[in-house]
Amino acid sequence: MNAYRDLRVALLGCGSVGAQVARLIIEQGDELAARVGARLRLTGIAVRSLDAERDVELPRELFTTDAEQLVLGADIVVELMGGIEPARALILRALEGGADVVTANKALIATHGPELADMAEQVGAQLSYEAAVAGAIPIIRPLRESLAGDRITRVLGIVNGSTNYILDRMDRFGDSAEDAMRVASELGYLEADPTLDVEGYDAAQKATILASIAFHTEVPVESVHREGITGVTAEQIEAAKHAGYVIKLLAIAERLIAADGTPGISARVYPALISRDHPLAAVHGGKNAVFVEAEAAGELMFYGAGAGGVETASAVLGDLVSAARRHVVGGPGIPGSAHADLPLLPVGEVTTSYQIMLQVRDEPGVLAAIAGILARHGVSAASVEQTAAQADEAADRTAGAEQTAALVIGTHRAREADLAATVEALRESAAVTAVTSVLRLEGDS
Ligand code: NAP
Repeated sequence: MNAYRDLRVALLGCGSVGAQVARLIIEQGDELAARVGARLRLTGIAVRSLDAERDVELPRELFTTDAEQLVLGADIVVELMGGIEPARALILRALEGGADVVTANKALIATHGPELADMAEQVGAQLSYEAAVAGAIPIIRPLRESLAGDRITRVLGIVNGSTNYILDRMDRFGDSAEDAMRVASELGYLEADPTLDVEGYDAAQKATILASIAFHTEVPVESVHREGITGVTAEQIEAAKHAGYVIKLLAIAERLIAADGTPGISARVYPALISRDHPLAAVHGGKNAVFVEAEAAGELMFYGAGAGGVETASAVLGDLVSAARRHVVGGPGIPGSAHADLPLLPVGEVTTSYQIMLQVRDEPGVLAAIAGILARHGVSAASVEQTAAQADEAADRTAGAEQTAALVIGTHRAREADLAATVEALRESAAVTAVTSVLRLEGDS
């Protein structure tokens, strides 16, 4: 049997993910040692409560509430506490001491990633966070390393399992938004406060991380345009289905050319239509997927479990083994890279197409009026579909029943600012009684 040297691993947190990481380090000790060329010795596990029940049986003597002390003297620190503080301070302390750090903390990386990466680079340590985006799915390393020689043009991600579960139920089972939310909550897909998920904050944190890595640029989370799924209705889902689309909450990172010719990037999150033929349309339930478009590699898709204790632990262990191998071989960690420093363009500069659903007066000249509004804003219609005329219920109850018709307009690609101005003008038009839905179409070329 090989006499491996020890690498001291400090674990911060023993919740859903941390407990599984601890179990795997212990259970797979020999195998990991053979893969790394050194033994991963768990020196301690920092928690808040020493008496709390754990998901797995672990040696009691490993537990401590003194995270600061545990970090000192570690070769590798694995942070699975979550939250900003004290996780940030502990990671900085670990890096200052020359330890490599592995974390799954998307909130921390999205808000303080550059600060932590700078510290890691200063001391030549490795900072890894594969599990921070899309749980078990390898996406950070593929973007950072496997595609390092390529030029990524666009990343489209379904990176929040809860919202994908809700939208998928509405699409596949015809649930109302309320019913889908209730089932998601009952099955544990939603936190007690679901705002982070349904309002798109979680996806925006992941969009920040994906865009930063894909485009070698610091992308503050505040610069990510964010819309959640709370406005998505069963009617929109039905209409999308009818037109051959599905609605997904997408985290998008994309290279763009602004109207004035400036090359830049956009990071945004919103519910959007994608063709039912697009690979992302087949991502059902709580699963995640990231679709990457690169100049040389073309289209790639990474699919799998975006959450779950043991699934996420797989990504954490991958980072841990990689950091441990670096210790064995020596040399500095791979630094983060923000050298491109591309301008972050506002959502108004994005080029996309819209599907607009309108309720219009059913009388002569209405279509011409609408066509005129589109033309004035430089937007052209790719399709116009009119559904059967119907009596306006409100009008029905008062004076003579006014006939209205439902129109679905699909536009060609245009700048978001022009499309938004078009929708505003439609709202104000006397020909239009209501704009009932506006959705962007993504995933086309
Ligand atoms: P969790 O179940 O809430 O566990 C958090 C652990 O950290 C607990 O053991 C807790 O101790 C400990 N802790 C929290 N604050 C602490 C403090 N101030 N000092 C010492 N210990 C502290 O969290 P989780 O679901 O495992 O998630 C961990 C990280 O992974 C988060 O950053 C999360 O965003 C990320 N992540 C999770 C998933 C997932 O599926 N769960 C997926 C991807 C990424 P006590 O047990 O004593 O309270």
